[in-house]
Amino acid sequence: MQLRIPGPTPCPEEVLQAQSKQMINHRGKEFRELNRKVTEQLKRCFQTKGDVLILTGSGTAGMEAAVVNTLSPGDTVLAVSIGAFGDRFADIAQRYGADVKKLSFEWGLRADPDRIRQALREAPAIKAVLVTHNETSTGVTNDLASISKAVKEFDKLLLVDGVSSIGSIDLPVDEWQCDVAVTGSQKGWMCPPGLAMVSMNQRAWQAYDKAKMPRFYLDLGKARKFLEEKGETPWTPAVSTFYALSVALDMVERETLPKIFARHARTARAARDGIKSLGLSLFPQEDCASNTVTAINGPHGVDLKKLLQILREEHGVVLSGGQGKLDGKIFRIGHLGWVTEADMAEVTLALKKALPHAGA
Ligand SMILES: *Cc1c(COP(=O)(O)O)cnc(C)c1O
Repeated sequence: MQLRIPGPTPCPEEVLQAQSKQMINHRGKEFRELNRKVTEQLKRCFQTKGDVLILTGSGTAGMEAAVVNTLSPGDTVLAVSIGAFGDRFADIAQRYGADVKKLSFEWGLRADPDRIRQALREAPAIKAVLVTHNETSTGVTNDLASISKAVKEFDKLLLVDGVSSIGSIDLPVDEWQCDVAVTGSQKGWMCPPGLAMVSMNQRAWQAYDKAKMPRFYLDLGKARKFLEEKGETPWTPAVSTFYALSVALDMVERETLPKIFARHARTARAARDGIKSLGLSLFPQEDCASNTVTAINGPHGVDLKKLLQILREEHGVVLSGGQGKLDGKIFRIGHLGWVTEADMAEVTLALKKALPHAGA
């Protein structure tokens, strides 16, 4: 099977092998060394000198951690949404009692930094801006550098969902002043699900000291204390996913980040060129199309459920449908992590064979 969804993503054999190792004491020397090694490697991938904390949970746990560790109930936040994951970030903040001002953009487009400026000008009470770097539901990458510039002109806290971008699309956390940035092991990291990785800078820790939202499992201050004092995590970590992540990060370091970003750019271009060669069209505006997921308009007359079924059952290619309001309207190719242009050629070929049998 070729798993071409935007997470979980396929894992290299050596990563899978690492996962099958025997358990170790998570309060012992071996785990402490592993945790410290992986944390240092992640800091290099996040391009940060701040802290990176590893939580056991999926990417959403990281998003929730970003919110509850920096904000208090009643705080005003600006949630910039360009799709389903932007909506999720807003929902989390709302559920914990933030006063959420939502700035939504048409799905398929990126956020306009000038409209963010305008919103910040109109509501000086805003304390933090929540934004998705790469919106997996629509296949759009935001211009985070420009968004950050706008947010920092107003000196606001910037919380970034980089779940489907960090490690695959350039996101220099320190340079772009992302106070908190989040990713998850099953996206670009060539690893199974199980871990959320969250960076926190000085500014975020200052917010942490005043933040009153309830938190227990996801308390990043506690995570930092355990890491600094003992090299441990407060609660039992997903030990096997740590094994996997360690091997995967060694692979990342061997390939190097610039080459990984370039490979994702080439792979995404191959995906876009491939679908266009079949007469299909991109869902997002092309100049903001993502390098980790390609969203494609369902062609006229094609039953997308049937198309995905034929691809899966007859060609061994697993693609994703649309999320939320895009269900039945688009389908998506995930191309993050352990993926190349050649993989996209295979997806294109499978699509070419399957489309006529799905009504095209
Ligand atoms: C996958 C993803 C998440 C988190 O999803 P989980 O299922 O909780 O790991 C959040 N944001 C984006 C942009 C994602 O792609």
